[in-house]
Amino acid sequence: MTLRIPLRYVKGIGPKRAAQLARHGLLTVGDLLYHLPFRYEDWRTLSPIAALRPGEQATTFAEITSVHERRVPQARRYGKVRRGSRVELVLEARARDGTGGVTLVWFHRAAHVRARYKPGQRVVIHGRVEAGPRFIHPEIETLSEAPHGQMSEGFVDRIPALPPGTPTVAPTRVGSVESVGLRRKNELPTSTVAATRVGQLVPMYTRPTGMPEGIMRRLARTAVEEFGELLRDVLPREAISRQGLMDAADALAYVHMPPRDADASALHEARTAAQRTLIFDELFCLQLGMAIRRAAGSRSPGIAFEAPGQSAQVLRRHLPFVLTDAQERVIAQVQADMKSPRPMCRIVQGDVGSGKTVVAVFAALAALDTGYSAAVMVPTEVLAEQHLDTFQELLAPLGLRPLLLTGRLRARERAAVLSAIASDGPALVVGTHALIQEKVRFGRLGLAVIDEQHRFGVVQRDTLWAKGHETAGVERVTPDTLVMTATPIPRTMAMTVYGDLDVSYLDELPAGRQPVATRVIPDGDRERAYLFAREELAQGHQVFVVFPLVEDSDGAPLRAATGMVAELRSVSFAGYAVGLIHGRMGSDEKEDTMRRFKAGEYQVLVCTTVIEVGIDVPNATVMVIEHADRFGLAQLHQLRGRVGRGRARATCYLIASSICPASGYERLRVMEETHDGLGIAEADLRIRGPGEFLGTRQAGLPELRVASLLRDTDLLDAAREEARRFLGEHSDLRDAARSCSSALLHHRWADELGLA
Ligand code: ADP
Ligand code: MG
Repeated sequence: MTLRIPLRYVKGIGPKRAAQLARHGLLTVGDLLYHLPFRYEDWRTLSPIAALRPGEQATTFAEITSVHERRVPQARRYGKVRRGSRVELVLEARARDGTGGVTLVWFHRAAHVRARYKPGQRVVIHGRVEAGPRFIHPEIETLSEAPHGQMSEGFVDRIPALPPGTPTVAPTRVGSVESVGLRRKNELPTSTVAATRVGQLVPMYTRPTGMPEGIMRRLARTAVEEFGELLRDVLPREAISRQGLMDAADALAYVHMPPRDADASALHEARTAAQRTLIFDELFCLQLGMAIRRAAGSRSPGIAFEAPGQSAQVLRRHLPFVLTDAQERVIAQVQADMKSPRPMCRIVQGDVGSGKTVVAVFAALAALDTGYSAAVMVPTEVLAEQHLDTFQELLAPLGLRPLLLTGRLRARERAAVLSAIASDGPALVVGTHALIQEKVRFGRLGLAVIDEQHRFGVVQRDTLWAKGHETAGVERVTPDTLVMTATPIPRTMAMTVYGDLDVSYLDELPAGRQPVATRVIPDGDRERAYLFAREELAQGHQVFVVFPLVEDSDGAPLRAATGMVAELRSVSFAGYAVGLIHGRMGSDEKEDTMRRFKAGEYQVLVCTTVIEVGIDVPNATVMVIEHADRFGLAQLHQLRGRVGRGRARATCYLIASSICPASGYERLRVMEETHDGLGIAEADLRIRGPGEFLGTRQAGLPELRVASLLRDTDLLDAAREEARRFLGEHSDLRDAARSCSSALLHHRWADELGLA
């Protein structure tokens, strides 16, 4: 039995629920076990109403005295101007204890709430206290009967006393959860106990839309009870004792079902031994995986290329621009790597527009000069075609013709390309995932370049690299790998994020590049942005309009791409060709729309973030980003990098949602002043904290579920140390992989790091 058991085999999960969970990224028992609470609600202490302080999370016990509806003018909805004034129903309830009264407010689902709560009912209320005091959309547990009986220490700190003689007197002694419903705990069906939050430190999970909080909690609990033991002893015992950690099985039980006396603030800050254990567990497996890969890589022989070869000189003479100092430095690093017989494993990190492509061209030349082929893999067809053009232009003076391999090729062309790269003669091929399909064979692959690597997984990177091993001839050598990314990662972190790669920084933009003028404007000033966009269109330029969502999801007042495109076509951009592109389109359709925009057939492109990847449309001078506060700064920076690539000055409007708080607005203003990716990443980190900063998905690594590379640096060091030690004790790599496989197999890492 392993943690890879599909969720439908878990008690309480049928096919429908399994599908729902799958859409939320939870497929296996392991996924569910490691889907940790993102916070805890503390229902352990009851506060009297008089002691409620605005801004605090609090739990209180009171009796409902009235429930009534109020009508208020409806707030105007986004994008839909309503004629006439409509009113919205607001439900309010009053509740009191012996110390005071409190108002409970619901803005929607009034009928539902109304049916549920009646005067005279005694309820436990939990939520954030607002001035008044009021609770807006509070969490409520109804006590079906007057609770009394045994008091449990620690649960009730202070019992609100109602004035004696009041007919609606609440019990003067509030019972513990055990006595809720006049029964002792061991007489209650398990589900009731699990569903009762009163007296508990309640774990909160992100969950599929439509799945009630309580169900998600119950499923997590079931997973721990039924499968948690699978994690017993997966971590080396000595490591646990050296690092002062726990057994992973106990740690999981602790975080999913924290004991009553758990320290809530320690849990929130991930300081408990249980959380540190799980963080260590994750980082240890990651480090072990990387150490094994690295060791395996350095043990296989590479190629000592002639670098720089004779054609590098010719290329330099024909370059249409002068290389920046940063480009010179990075090219030299790459050439040194290629010259050495050790296989190159290097990542070039450079902001959008820093000129990474030409670095790849120099690397490719070294391979070709030495008689080897080079393959350049990119995430989209349009990008592949764009690179092909660039390569063609730069290599024409050398008489070299790069090849293109994408899914769009017709059978005949495809066969020709495949046979060219399978031959012994050196070839340069640019392509998409098509390059790593099984049928593709390289004659002599010497260099694999992966561009915009955050779009590829570690395995895809390795598959291209492994193509070199399949090389037909007698030689069995490891090709060099050059990875390129615009994802900014602070230097201090790069080593751990890219563990198995050497890092180069292209930290300089070509001279004369003007930063994109960036303006943050409130929702109400949108017309200003569109007016400006129309002026630019009138001068023959092109415009991007970016939305965070594809469709209006009910309730969310977001301007969504598909919904807004009609209005943009008929009103704001009437008379211009407006293309639409979003993540739910098929890739052919996306690529086709992108191609047409690049060719100028569309003047306006309305899109979701699919345009983020390296597309070059120098004629596009305006980008309008709706609901900009919904994006991370690093992502906004990537998006913004799509304009300002030509000679004309470019402008980017960031429209803040009207619900965007002042702090969100201030965060966006960083974009007005800061124009380098690293600076923005650091600002993002300062403002939002480590939790949200680094989408590891962006970094092309398996997503870390528990650990934060910023917060947990000490554990990262410890994990690396332990991983090294572990490997040191297993001199044979295969042996090491096998003996740690019991641990690794329990994790997605095994697959994602290609260790399976
Ligand atoms: P990225 O790092 O985003 O992949 P590209 O390699 O696509 O950047 O380069 C962006 C643009 O800058 C291209 O049009 C390229 O020709 C140009 N470019 C690259 N290096 C220089 C340079 N040293 N001087 C001027 N323009 C350059
Ligand atoms: Mg690029």
